[in-house]
Amino acid sequence: MGADADPVPLDGNCLAGPLAGLLAVDVTTTAGRCTHCGDVAMLARAAVWAHPMGYVGRCRVCGQVLLVVVEHPDGVRVAARGLSWWGLGGGDDDGGPPS
Ligand SMILES: [Zn+2]
Repeated sequence: MGADADPVPLDGNCLAGPLAGLLAVDVTTTAGRCTHCGDVAMLARAAVWAHPMGYVGRCRVCGQVLLVVVEHPDGVRVAARGLSWWGLGGGDDDGGPPS
Protein backbone atom coordinates (compact mmCIF):
# COMPACT_ATOMS: atom_id res chain seq x y z
CA MET A 1 0.00 0.00 0.00
CA GLY A 2 2.93 2.38 0.59
CA ALA A 3 4.42 4.51 -2.13
CA ASP A 4 7.58 2.38 -2.11
CA ALA A 5 5.71 -0.87 -2.79
CA ASP A 6 4.93 -0.19 -6.46
CA PRO A 7 7.73 0.27 -9.01
CA VAL A 8 5.64 2.78 -11.00
CA PRO A 9 3.48 5.38 -9.27
CA LEU A 10 -0.20 5.65 -10.11
CA ASP A 11 -1.81 8.96 -11.01
CA GLY A 12 -4.11 10.81 -8.63
CA ASN A 13 -7.23 9.22 -10.10
CA CYS A 14 -6.61 6.18 -7.91
CA LEU A 15 -7.48 8.36 -4.89
CA ALA A 16 -11.09 8.89 -6.04
CA GLY A 17 -12.37 5.85 -4.18
CA PRO A 18 -10.51 6.27 -0.89
CA LEU A 19 -11.29 10.00 -0.67
CA ALA A 20 -14.94 9.81 -1.83
CA GLY A 21 -16.12 9.08 1.71
CA LEU A 22 -14.14 11.98 3.13
CA LEU A 23 -15.73 14.52 0.82
CA ALA A 24 -19.28 13.18 1.23
CA VAL A 25 -19.53 13.74 4.97
CA ASP A 26 -20.10 16.73 7.21
CA VAL A 27 -16.51 17.98 7.27
CA THR A 28 -16.88 19.24 10.84
CA THR A 29 -17.15 15.62 11.99
CA THR A 30 -13.77 14.75 10.49
CA ALA A 31 -10.81 14.63 12.83
CA GLY A 32 -7.21 15.68 12.67
CA ARG A 33 -4.00 15.58 14.67
CA CYS A 34 -2.19 18.79 15.58
CA THR A 35 1.42 18.66 14.40
CA HIS A 36 2.54 20.79 17.35
CA CYS A 37 0.97 19.17 20.44
CA GLY A 38 -0.43 15.91 19.05
CA ASP A 39 -4.01 16.61 20.13
CA VAL A 40 -6.53 14.63 18.10
CA ALA A 41 -9.89 16.35 17.74
CA MET A 42 -12.84 16.78 15.47
CA LEU A 43 -12.68 19.81 13.19
CA ALA A 44 -15.76 21.25 14.91
CA ARG A 45 -13.62 21.67 18.04
CA ALA A 46 -11.10 24.01 16.36
CA ALA A 47 -11.02 27.67 17.37
CA VAL A 48 -11.79 29.51 14.12
CA TRP A 49 -11.24 33.15 13.31
CA ALA A 50 -13.07 34.55 10.28
CA HIS A 51 -11.21 37.11 8.19
CA PRO A 52 -12.30 38.90 5.02
CA MET A 53 -10.11 36.55 2.94
CA GLY A 54 -11.07 33.34 4.72
CA TYR A 55 -10.80 31.37 7.94
CA VAL A 56 -7.96 30.38 10.26
CA GLY A 57 -8.55 27.31 12.43
CA ARG A 58 -6.36 26.89 15.52
CA CYS A 59 -5.83 24.02 17.94
CA ARG A 60 -7.86 24.46 21.15
CA VAL A 61 -5.03 22.94 23.18
CA CYS A 62 -1.90 24.79 22.00
CA GLY A 63 -3.13 27.54 19.68
CA GLN A 64 -1.15 26.31 16.66
CA VAL A 65 -2.68 27.13 13.26
CA LEU A 66 -4.19 23.87 12.02
CA LEU A 67 -5.59 25.01 8.71
CA VAL A 68 -6.41 28.03 6.59
CA VAL A 69 -9.47 28.06 4.33
CA VAL A 70 -9.73 30.67 1.60
CA GLU A 71 -12.75 31.20 -0.62
CA HIS A 72 -11.00 31.87 -3.92
CA PRO A 73 -12.96 32.86 -7.06
CA ASP A 74 -11.88 29.55 -8.63
CA GLY A 75 -12.91 27.49 -5.60
CA VAL A 76 -12.10 26.87 -1.98
CA ARG A 77 -8.42 26.48 -1.10
CA VAL A 78 -7.26 24.68 2.04
CA ALA A 79 -3.79 24.71 3.58
CA ALA A 80 -3.58 22.22 6.43
CA ARG A 81 0.11 22.34 7.38
CA GLY A 82 -0.76 22.24 11.08
CA LEU A 83 -2.35 18.80 10.77
CA SER A 84 -0.21 15.67 10.61
CA TRP A 85 -3.30 13.83 9.39
CA TRP A 86 -6.92 14.71 8.69
CA GLY A 87 -9.67 12.23 7.96
CA LEU A 88 -12.52 10.09 9.07
CA GLY A 89 -12.40 8.42 12.46
CA GLY A 90 -10.42 9.37 15.49
CA GLY A 91 -11.03 12.55 17.44
CA ASP A 92 -13.19 13.14 20.43
CA ASP A 93 -15.71 10.40 20.02
CA ASP A 94 -13.98 7.21 19.04
CA GLY A 95 -10.35 7.18 19.98
CA GLY A 96 -7.07 7.56 18.20
CA PRO A 97 -5.83 8.18 14.72
CA PRO A 98 -6.93 6.12 11.73
CA SER A 99 -5.08 2.87 11.21
ZN1 LIG B 1 -2.14 21.62 19.30
